[in-house]
Amino acid sequence: MDETVSMKCGLEIHVQVDTNSKLFCTCPTNYNEVEPNTNICPVCMAHPGARPMPPNKKAVDMAIMVAKMLGCEIVLDKDIYFQRKHYNYPDLPSGYQRTSVPVGEHGKFLGVGITEVHLEEDPGQYKPDLGVVDYNRSGTPLIEIVSDPDIKSPEEAKEFLRQLLRLFNYIGNLRGEGSMRADVNISVNYNGVQGNRVEVKNVNSIKGVYKVLKYEFIRQKNILRRGGEIKRETRAFMEAQLITKAMRSKETADDYRHIPDPDLQPIVINKEWVKMVEEKMPETPMDKEKRFVEQYGIKLEDAKVMVADLALADVFETVVSELGRGKENISLAVIWIRNELRRVLAYNNIDFLESNLKPEHITELIQLITGKTISQKIGKKVIEIMIENKGEKTPKQIIEELGLTVIDSDDVLETACKEAIENNPKAVDDYLTGNEGALNFVVGQVMRATRGRAQPNKVVEILKKLINK
Ligand code: ZN
Ligand code: MN
Repeated sequence: MDETVSMKCGLEIHVQVDTNSKLFCTCPTNYNEVEPNTNICPVCMAHPGARPMPPNKKAVDMAIMVAKMLGCEIVLDKDIYFQRKHYNYPDLPSGYQRTSVPVGEHGKFLGVGITEVHLEEDPGQYKPDLGVVDYNRSGTPLIEIVSDPDIKSPEEAKEFLRQLLRLFNYIGNLRGEGSMRADVNISVNYNGVQGNRVEVKNVNSIKGVYKVLKYEFIRQKNILRRGGEIKRETRAFMEAQLITKAMRSKETADDYRHIPDPDLQPIVINKEWVKMVEEKMPETPMDKEKRFVEQYGIKLEDAKVMVADLALADVFETVVSELGRGKENISLAVIWIRNELRRVLAYNNIDFLESNLKPEHITELIQLITGKTISQKIGKKVIEIMIENKGEKTPKQIIEELGLTVIDSDDVLETACKEAIENNPKAVDDYLTGNEGALNFVVGQVMRATRGRAQPNKVVEILKKLINK
C-alpha cells in the first residue's frame, strides 16, 4: 500500500528561573528542601484580599535573556501584562494561573521557529495518589518557550530539547533539566489528509517527549489509515505504561477565560533594559564552536566535543592562554583536554566541575610533559590520580610523592635495555632480520620494567645502539 505520512510537532517548554523568591511574593523557592506547605503566604495561597507584589525583576531579566538567546525580538515600550488563565485543579489555590503576554517573539533556534517567550507562575504540586497538595512550589517563576510546529520527527524534537537544555546551562540562573516540563503538540498528515492537533500535557523529560511523539505518531497514523478522525483533545502521558490517554477535549481559549490581572501593573521593557541584560548575556554554544574553529584553528569536531561541556570549553581557553597560543600548544591542549581529561571524567561519571580540578592543573601537567619531566604515559596516569584525589594535589606533588619523574640517567636506562635484550632474544633476532616492528615489543618491555618512566624515543635509541654493537 502506498503511504505518505508526516508529522508536525510544536513544543511549549517550561523552565524554572533560579530566583531566591517567588514571582509575586517573597516566599523562598527551595520547595524541594523544606517541609510541605511551609514556603507559603497569603499571596501565593491566594487568600482573599492578598495583593501580588510587582513581578520579580530577576525573573523578567531572565525571560528577556532567554528570548534574546533564541533570536526573538523583545516587545519594546508596550504593556506586557499578566493574564489570569482560569482552570480548576487542586494545585491552583486561586483558580487561575498568572501568565504574561509575550516578552519576546518571532525567534528561531536550530531552524525551528520560536513563536514566543513569556513568564508565568508555577502551580503547587498535587499528589492524587496521596490525596495531598503541597503549595511550596506555587508562584515559582517559570519561563515558557512556545515553538512553531516546525519539528518533523521524534528525533528532531529530542535534538532540539537537548540543545535547548545546553543553552539553559550556558545562560545559567535557570533550573534546567530537573525542572523542565513540556506540553507536546502533534498532528499527523496521512496521504494528504490532515488530522487534528493533539496536545500531550506535562511531559517532564527529553526521553518522555521522544516516547510521546513516537507513540502518538503511530496512534494517529493508524486512526487516519482506517479513515477515522483525530479528536482535538488534551492527553496525558502515562510514563509507566509508555502510552498517552485522553484527559479532556481541548479547551478553546475561551474555556480559560483569559483576563488581564487587575492587581498587577504591566511591565514595560525599554531599550536600556534590554541593553543591560545583553551585557550579562553569554555566548551561545553554536557561536562558541564557530569561534573555537576560527580563533584556534581546531577541527569543528573537537570544538563540538569540548563546547558540549561549558566548563571544559573554559578549561581549554584558560589552558591555551596559560601555555601560550602557539599551534603546538593548542593541539596539546586539545589532546589532553578533549581526549585524556574527558576519558577519565567519563570513566568516573562526573563532569569537570564535580572533579574539583582547576585549569592550572592541566596546564602544569602539559608543561611537565613538554618539559620531559614525565612521559606521556605517566601523564595519563597523573590525570587519573588527580581525579581520584578530587584535585587536592597538583601534578607536581603527585609525581614527586609517587616518584614518577622520567628516568634521565643513561646508566639506569642502559641496564634496563640490556636486561630486555637478554630476556627477549627472539624479538631481537626478528628485528635483526629486518622486522622493524619486533623492536617495539622490546621497547614495551623496557617501559614496563621502568613503570612508564622512560621516554620511549630514548629507549629506542639506546636499544638500537646496543643491538647493533
Ligand atoms: Zn508567598
Ligand atoms: Mn504554560
